[in-house]
Amino acid sequence: MPQIFSDLITFGTTCSSGIWNLDTSNISANQSVSPWKPARPPDAIGIVFDIMRYCVHDGPGIRTAVFLKGCPLHCSWCHNPEGQSNGIELSFREDRCVRCGDCFDLCPNGAVVKEGDRYRPARETCMVCGTCVDSCYAEARELVGREMSVGEVMNEILKDLAFFDQSGGGVTFTGGEPLFQIEFVDALLRACKRHGIHTAVETSGFCNWATLERISAATDLFLYDIKIMDDEAHRRFTGVGNGQILDNLARLSLSGNDVVVRMPVLPGINDHEANLRAILEFLTKRTSVQDIHLLPFHRIGKDKSTRLGHQSTMPDLPVPEAEHLNAISTLFKQGGLRAMIGG
Ligand code: SF4
Ligand code: SF4
Repeated sequence: MPQIFSDLITFGTTCSSGIWNLDTSNISANQSVSPWKPARPPDAIGIVFDIMRYCVHDGPGIRTAVFLKGCPLHCSWCHNPEGQSNGIELSFREDRCVRCGDCFDLCPNGAVVKEGDRYRPARETCMVCGTCVDSCYAEARELVGREMSVGEVMNEILKDLAFFDQSGGGVTFTGGEPLFQIEFVDALLRACKRHGIHTAVETSGFCNWATLERISAATDLFLYDIKIMDDEAHRRFTGVGNGQILDNLARLSLSGNDVVVRMPVLPGINDHEANLRAILEFLTKRTSVQDIHLLPFHRIGKDKSTRLGHQSTMPDLPVPEAEHLNAISTLFKQGGLRAMIGG
């Protein structure tokens, strides 16, 4: 585990809103003998950058999606670049800035640069203290990511318990790569199961097998990304090879886990016939996966990267046409998979 990330996780600290307090007030007599005990004192702290309620695309029913920071991949087309870094970041929207200068006057770290009548963050000295965010009435500045305990996240999740029950929904942990914060997500999954909540984990699969195995019992559904079958191309576009990802997918599905494969459709990168047929062959011959969801490329990640001060690597791709998506879907269906467009 990278040092910077291990620094984000704390154990054995006091947590007044911890899951023990939360769980013991809600569990029934049956649940008190639930197998879903925390693996260790459940006061794990994680970095969350969003919690979206009433989602309908990331698993069955109405869901709450919990977005966790940190990802070992750097996909050039990433639509959630705020999930790549594992730290809290400052987002600045210049289009909202009214050039009042309050951030320049108030920043305790001299991390606002004045250029004429414009003000921009000096990211190399910014300590993400949030002082400028609180003072910016134009809401041009925002901190992306915040520390939350398992108990705090569960309090948000439990608000929608009735919707989960009525719709067959639940919680989806996504990001970023949720398994990058394995202690935190493991504690959250166990807490969800103690409340009888359906759980899904969206993952790149780029981790060791023990990580997947650890959470598999408490994960009802894996949403597993497959992008490019050629290892060299995968490395070029995501920063990592795909050997471990494919091995993990085969092992995960053949171990009896419910797995849906999700494939971003990236025109000119992974939508050519050789890649599509290689995916089909792999899924039908080496896994027990039956479902593949096609996620059309879109560009919303680019603006987010700009606001975060990231160097955007977003390729200049067209949004795939419906006809093209249908043709890909048909190819997979003819190969014996259940294919659908969208998540
Ligand atoms: S406080 Fe907000 S609106 Fe004012 S200059 Fe700074 S970013 Fe712009
Ligand atoms: S987050 Fe804090 S350090 Fe960074 S620019 Fe704003 S006030 Fe300055």
